[in-house]
Amino acid sequence: MNIIKKIKYFGGSIYRGLIGIWQNAFDKAPEIKTTVEWFVLGNSREGRNIRCYKIGTGPKKILFVAGIHGNEVGTIKLAHNLINWLYNHQEKFFNLSIYIISCLNPDGFEIAKQFPDYFRRGRFGRFNLNNVDLDRNFPSKNWQPQSIWPRGRDYGDEAIEVLCGDSPGSEPEVQGFVSFAGIERIKNIISFHNMAGDVIINLENPIAVKWANIYNKKAKFRIVKSPRLSGNMSEWCLENNINYMTVEGTTRWGSDWRKQRVAIQEVLNNLQNS
Ligand SMILES: [Zn+2]
Repeated sequence: MNIIKKIKYFGGSIYRGLIGIWQNAFDKAPEIKTTVEWFVLGNSREGRNIRCYKIGTGPKKILFVAGIHGNEVGTIKLAHNLINWLYNHQEKFFNLSIYIISCLNPDGFEIAKQFPDYFRRGRFGRFNLNNVDLDRNFPSKNWQPQSIWPRGRDYGDEAIEVLCGDSPGSEPEVQGFVSFAGIERIKNIISFHNMAGDVIINLENPIAVKWANIYNKKAKFRIVKSPRLSGNMSEWCLENNINYMTVEGTTRWGSDWRKQRVAIQEVLNNLQNS
C-alpha cells in the first residue's frame, strides 16, 4: 500500500470504528420470538449450540447462514431481524421451507462481543476456537491448509494469512453444516458476511445471477465474480450443485436490515414463484 492509500485506510478504520460503537449501542439484535421453531444443528469447538431456525413447511428449501465469521457481528443481527420478519409474514411463502442459521461460529462471536475490535475493522472473533477460518475449511477439492483473508477496497488492500484446519471439513461447525445440508438436500444457500456492499457469485450459475441482480437492483449491491478461494463454502456448493451466493453487507456492526430487507424478500418471492 502506498502512503496515501495507508492514510485513507487508517482514516476509514477510525470512521468505521466510531460508527460501530454507535451501532452496538443502538442497533441491537432483536430477541427472536420464542414461538419460532428451532433445532440444534451441531456444536462449536467449545461446545456451544449452533441453532437453526425454521419457517414454513413448503417443498422448496432455502438456507440462510450468518456469522460463519464471528467478527461479522452485523450478520447475526441481520439474521435475528430476518427470522422475526419471516415469522410474521410466513403466509407469503407457503411454497418454501426457510432455514436460518443465526450464527455458525458462536465461539468467534463470543470473542467479538467480549473484545470488540472497533478500530481495526473488527479482526477479533473471525475464527473458531481452533483459530480456523471456517469459510476455508469446507471439504472442497481445492482445500488447502492455509489461505488468505482479503481486506479493504475491492478486497485488495491487505491479505492476511489464515489457517484452514487439519483437513477438509475438520471443524465441528463445518461438519454440522455439511451434514445438515446433505440430509435435508438443500439446493439454495445464501451466506451473510460483511462488509463491502457486494454480492459474490459464480457467474455460470443462473439462479445465483438472478439473486445477485435482485440485490443489485433493490439494495444497490455490486455484483462480484467469486474469487475461487480454497475450502470456501462457495466451492463446496459448486461441487454439490447447490445454488449459492455470498452477501457482503454494508456494515460490520449494524444489522443492515433496512438495506437488505426488500432484496431478501424479493429473492424469496422469486423462489416461491419459480
Ligand atoms: Zn466473512
